[in-house]
Formats: sequence, C-alpha cells, structure tokens
Amino acid sequence: MNPRLQHKVALVTGAGSGIGAATATRFAEEGAHVFLTDADFERVASVAATISAAGGRATARRQDVTDESDWNVLMQEIIDVKGRLDILVNNAGIVITGTVESTSLSDWRKTQAVNLEAVFMGTRAGVAAMKATGGSIINISSIEGIIGEALTAAYNASKGGVRIFTKSAALHCAQENYNIRVNTVHPGYILTPMVTEGIGSLSPDAGAEMHANLMREIPLKTMGEPLDIANGCLFLASDESKYMTGSELVIDGGYTCR
Ligand code: NAP
Repeated sequence: MNPRLQHKVALVTGAGSGIGAATATRFAEEGAHVFLTDADFERVASVAATISAAGGRATARRQDVTDESDWNVLMQEIIDVKGRLDILVNNAGIVITGTVESTSLSDWRKTQAVNLEAVFMGTRAGVAAMKATGGSIINISSIEGIIGEALTAAYNASKGGVRIFTKSAALHCAQENYNIRVNTVHPGYILTPMVTEGIGSLSPDAGAEMHANLMREIPLKTMGEPLDIANGCLFLASDESKYMTGSELVIDGGYTCR
C-alpha cells in the first residue's frame, strides 16, 4: 500500500512540541516532506533531526507565527524549493488562564495574536500557495472553541474564532473552485507540555483536584496523547477526507458529549 501522503509537501507550525511534533512526525511517516516551524528553533530542529534519522524528510525553520514577514519568507522558500504546498497545519498556540474579570487586555491581545490572528495569516498564506494546485488546511481549535470554561476567557474567544473563521475560508475556497479544503480539529485534554505545565503550575492539592475532576468529566476516563490528534490531522491531510471542508473533527474522549 502506498504511504497516505506520498509526494505531498506539508507545513506544521508549533512543531517543536506536543501535538505539532507528533503531527509532523506522523506526516513524515506517511511519506510527506514536512516543513516544521516553531518560535523555538533548537526544539524544532531536534524534532526534525529525529524524523530524518528515522528515514523521513523534514526541514526545520524558526517562525514566529504572529509575524507577517516570517510567513512571507517561509512560504516563498517552500515554493522556491519544493514548487508547491499541499498541507498546512496551523497548530502553534498558547493558553493564558483568566476569567472575564481577571484577564488583562495585554494577555487577551497576546492570546488572540497567536491563536487567532496567526491562523488567519497562515490560512491566507496557505490559500495563496495552494490555489493553483489544491490542498488541505487544518486549523487546530479546541474543545474550548465549542464550549465555554470560566477560566479560559481569552482562549475560548480565540478558539471559537478559529472554528468559525475556518468555515468562512472553506466557503470562499469552494466558491472559487480552488480545490482547497479547510477544516478544524478540536482536541480535548491531551498530554502535552501545555496541559502538564498548566496542571503543574497549580498547588499540589489544586493540581490533584483538577486531575480528579478531569477523570470524572472525560467519558473515556483518560487524557489523550498527541498521536490521537496527529492521526486525525493525517486523515484531514490525506485524500481520504476529500469530501470534508468547513468540518469540525472533535477528538476529546467524549468530553463535549454532555
Ligand atoms: P505545546 O506543547 O505548548 O506546543 C505549542 C508549540 O507552539 C510550542 O512549541 C510553542 O513554542 C509554539 N508556539 C507558541 N507561540 C508561538 C509563536 N508565536 N510562533 C511559533 N510557535 C509558537 O502545546 P500543544 O498542547 O501541543 O498545543 C498545540 C495546539 O493544540 C495549540 O493550538 C493548542 O491550543 C491546541 N490544543 C491543545 C490541547 C491540549 O490539551 N494539549 C487541547 C486543545 C487544543 P513555545 O513553547 O516556545 O511557546
């Protein structure tokens, strides 16, 4: 059987850690040449080196997704070197906890810049790169883009924005006959530094209570692994999902069922 992403060129942002690293690795295993970017170059270079050592094709670059000129330079390089881009995963993200009352304006703006504005810039750049050849754009939202949590006011807003912005981009690409599909992935609680460091920053009692609450609230009674999300991204990246655009792929152990 042929690899599922044979001859494809992919770009994954925030690929130095967690879900992005797992997704880039999974794409390379299925035959894609993957460009991995992250604000932290050493970390993303190390992930790319691991992929290459396993026989995959990977190129690491430093990119701040909030910087428009970084997007321009990166996309130009990919088109110059590979001649095409088939898959883009807008994955880089941050979480700053705070309620509507405790969130500062600067934390609100920082969250929107990384989680929402950068997804707009990435999707726009991806559409420009793919409109002659077609492709798949995957925007990483969250269960927090579907349901509210008191403690994640800014994050909720950013991920809800990603969800509905993606539908707008999907409709535009369909109307223009670009053969570009644009979908969201909505992870639940996944064991990555974002979650482990978040729980670790609480007092031992509060951390244990949060963990116990999560185990009660997640119907499958466990947190997910980055590979669970990477496999969903692989499906959306591959031609197996050719009839999906503007869709929401929820991978959350059942968290949003009730
Ligand atoms: P992670 O382990 O913290 O990885 C996120 C990566 O993005 C980090 O390497 C981070 O670098 C990078 N990044 C942050 N700001 C950036 C910027 N401005 N430019 C370029 N790279 C930047 O988090 P993760 O859990 O894998 O999260 C990946 C995505 O999944 C995020 O969009 C997140 O919101 C979403 N998500 C995660 C979960 C979960 O439970 N883990 C659930 C729902 C959705 P630094 O560490 O240097 O900042």
